[in-house]
Amino acid sequence: MKRIPEPFRIKMVEPIRMTNLEDREQALAQAGLNPFLLRSEDVYIDLLTDSGTGAMSDVQWAGLMMGDEAYAGSRNYFNLCESVEHFFGYKLTVPVHQGRGAEQILFPCLIERMKQVRGGTEPVFISNYHFDTTAGHIEMNGGKALNVVTEKAFDTESYYDWKGNFDLDKLRDTIATYGANNIAAIITTVTCNSSGGQPVSMANMRAVYEIAQQNDIPVVIDSARYCENAYFIKQREAGYQDSSMLEIIREMFQYGDMLTLSAKKDPMVNIGGLCCVRDHEELFRAVQTRCVPMEGFVTYGGMAGRDMEALARGMHEGADEDFLHYRISQVAYLGERLREAGIPIQYPTGGHAVFVDAAKMLPHIPAHQFPAQSLCNALYLEAGIRAVEIGSLLLGRDPETGEQKASPMELMRLTIPRRVYTNDHMDYIADALIAIKEQAASLKGLSFDYEPPVLRHFTAKFNSL
Ligand SMILES: *Cc1c(COP(=O)(O)O)cnc(C)c1O
Repeated sequence: MKRIPEPFRIKMVEPIRMTNLEDREQALAQAGLNPFLLRSEDVYIDLLTDSGTGAMSDVQWAGLMMGDEAYAGSRNYFNLCESVEHFFGYKLTVPVHQGRGAEQILFPCLIERMKQVRGGTEPVFISNYHFDTTAGHIEMNGGKALNVVTEKAFDTESYYDWKGNFDLDKLRDTIATYGANNIAAIITTVTCNSSGGQPVSMANMRAVYEIAQQNDIPVVIDSARYCENAYFIKQREAGYQDSSMLEIIREMFQYGDMLTLSAKKDPMVNIGGLCCVRDHEELFRAVQTRCVPMEGFVTYGGMAGRDMEALARGMHEGADEDFLHYRISQVAYLGERLREAGIPIQYPTGGHAVFVDAAKMLPHIPAHQFPAQSLCNALYLEAGIRAVEIGSLLLGRDPETGEQKASPMELMRLTIPRRVYTNDHMDYIADALIAIKEQAASLKGLSFDYEPPVLRHFTAKFNSL
């Protein structure tokens, strides 16, 4: 597969400390065999997440110097609103400290409206797939978070263009089961992070919006990777080959009434987020009212003026087609090298990560011994690369029975930060995993040395079996 050269040159570098096997064995043992507990300085290539880990451009750094740190009415806020209107066509914006800040102010307002305006009593949110903080904020507010992503998302090996799509029949059935007046919102997540950064088609977004309108249900677009999704639409969906990124993004956001955005992903900033409403002033006033005590005054929310400027500029860079062509190709290239070597991955690769199917690669390690975590540890020891488990360890136990929940997949996610690692780094990652495949049968499962009661994957410690 062709490597697309980087569409940027490097004018500042951050040296990385090189380690040897002995260093890494010591660091991993100290971290209790949990890469989350490693110091970043002991990591050579960090693929834990693409969130807030991207590199800003010279134009963005210059923007930082243009920060207007007035408490109210900062000029950077108005620049940010201009970028929002330009790309999304939404008129009403509050900045927030990151994506979950938008969730914490918007969702209670949606539940309130569902009760007062539509007479619902049991709030339900339906998504193709709720991100974990999204589900968390819904549940903390007494709601139910239901996922209706296409079944094809769970079949890792067979190609499908739109593994992020809603299953429209399931969506209709779920609305009928719970009653339209109890559906506080439908959340369209682009790309679908939890199914592997997989895209949602324009046709699916349109159909979801039509169903929502027929039932008088608001649609929220959870937009962290909207640029990557737009790029996939241009590549794969009939009728969009000649459209610009801007045209595609504008159409996508017509199929929503409001958006939450983690700006730490596609818009290329290290921290920040947005909560925007298309034109519903009454709802927006409720959002503003909650914003003040939770995030900050309505023209800065959770952000410094300078950071709003970097975001206003980053939105243009994240939607640049040449950049996206390189970005998506870089991820696909890594995936293709692994596939050629017979390493099972979620196929096709999504926008921001390659997901390795550890259940298939390490069939001798049962789910309760966390094969994907074992693979992450092997990758760190082999090459100093930090990946993350998405499987039984992340899923945790049923809070009522204490039993391990059954995970549909045991995946290791290799998440690629934006503009940080070169194509040479991708080859290095592929070579390391191929070397591990040769000795896969010798990898061992894990048992808990320490298991925290909640969100255990962050701080758990393990023994090798
Ligand atoms: C990252 C993310 C969020 C939460 O955003 P934070 O900036 O991490 O708070 C919500 N939804 C999706 C789809 C995400 O990827």
